[in-house]
Amino acid sequence: MDVAVIGGGAAGMMAALTAKSANPQLDVVVLERNNRLGKKLLATGNGRCNYTNMNMGPEFFHGGNPEFVLQSLKRFGRDDTIRFFENLGIEPWVEEGSGKVFPYSRQSSAVVEALTMALIEHGVKIEYNAKVLNINKENGLFELDLGDVKLKSKAVVLAAGGSAHPASGSDGNGYELAIKFGHRATTILPSLVQLKAEIPAAKSMDGTKLAYWLALIANRKEVDRRYGDVLWTADGLSGPGILDLSREAIHRYNNGEQILLRVILWEQDRQKTTDMLMKRVKLHENRSMEELMIGLLPKKIIIPFLSFHGIDSNAKGLEISRKDLQKIAQGLCGWDFPMTGYRDYVFAQTTAGGLRTDGFSPATMESELVKGFYAVGEVLDIDGDCGGYNLQWAWSSGYVAGMSVAREVKHDTIK
Ligand SMILES: Cc1cc2nc3c(=O)[nH]c(=O)nc-3n(C[C@H](O)[C@H](O)[C@H](O)COP(=O)(O)OP(=O)(O)OC[C@H]3O[C@@H](n4cnc5c(N)ncnc54)[C@H](O)[C@@H]3O)c2cc1C
Repeated sequence: MDVAVIGGGAAGMMAALTAKSANPQLDVVVLERNNRLGKKLLATGNGRCNYTNMNMGPEFFHGGNPEFVLQSLKRFGRDDTIRFFENLGIEPWVEEGSGKVFPYSRQSSAVVEALTMALIEHGVKIEYNAKVLNINKENGLFELDLGDVKLKSKAVVLAAGGSAHPASGSDGNGYELAIKFGHRATTILPSLVQLKAEIPAAKSMDGTKLAYWLALIANRKEVDRRYGDVLWTADGLSGPGILDLSREAIHRYNNGEQILLRVILWEQDRQKTTDMLMKRVKLHENRSMEELMIGLLPKKIIIPFLSFHGIDSNAKGLEISRKDLQKIAQGLCGWDFPMTGYRDYVFAQTTAGGLRTDGFSPATMESELVKGFYAVGEVLDIDGDCGGYNLQWAWSSGYVAGMSVAREVKHDTIK
């Protein structure tokens, strides 16, 4: 083999297809441990595959050195991704506001099928149920141990993913394959994941979902703020806004900081919010406090919200003191939920951390330690925000590695 790609996920498929398209003479094989390609891809975007975002830039990426993404994004960015998929038959559909790009059919299976068809049409070999257990390099050739068979290859692209969503096949085993070659990995943590929090009356609020501003408060200081759907669950908060805060929140939580997840239910200062409440009370002074909150808060959270702030939901508007209205106003301007933990990799969309990027060239994704060894996608210490950034990283890094392999590897028979 000329090129062996370990992992048939987003980054691996992109690397294999790019290498073969740019240098059709090469023998390229994708080694996938599952009996199908792109198992995780199928789960993306709630089955719709949010494959890039109209708002693109390095600021949406994280890791020890987020600037590592710069060259890849320049070489193969958002527009290239959209064009690439159009050429595979995937028309884009852009969600208004968020800039998220999905296939027009809103089906992630379309992306997996389009990539699989292209791999086959270009003559890339695909080996299923082919888990790479070990790699060695001897006399300039890599030897990949697949258990019952061994495979020789001139170049290897490691695209085994991170640790998130292990049922999809990426369970963190890929790090070890690179560590054996002297590469180092950072500490890893689940990211884009639901946060556990103290939620009063969690059962009755479970399932409530609405877009709000969310602030991350660490040791009483606001350190981040995001806008997005907030979903109350039985043991915490989820939704895109929370997922985006999760990276920073988990990191600080593990450092022993006291974390509050602040949901901003009403976006005005306290005085204006109190005035707004006074107006509502004056208009309907015989209504109960519960009734007075209808139209302001989702129905399921009205009673838990009032009781959390010490307000009797049955009290009539005219019985409510100005002090109580101020208390409600304060709660509307920011309802704080103390973070108590986070869900594990099973529920995470990505991994924060991975193989240190200083061991790889940002221009080619090739190892600085072992010639012909490349790493792409989530296995590296790069993770993106919610919104198509993790897949963009998989496409961009896969493309750059594929092009480099196509340039560097020469097709001749391995003896
Ligand atoms: C539920 C969910 C929803 C998501 N939604 C989005 C979204 O909408 N937009 C977005 O941008 N990102 C999303 N992500 C993140 C995104 O899917 C990943 O970041 C991306 O798929 C990583 O691509 P990858 O190719 O690096 O790894 P993966 O897609 O994980 O692929 C790695 C592949 O390698 C295989 N493999 C592992 N080890 C071996 C081995 N030793 N030998 C052979 N094969 C091996 C695995 O089976 C797997 O198929 C989501 C993630 C999850 C879990």
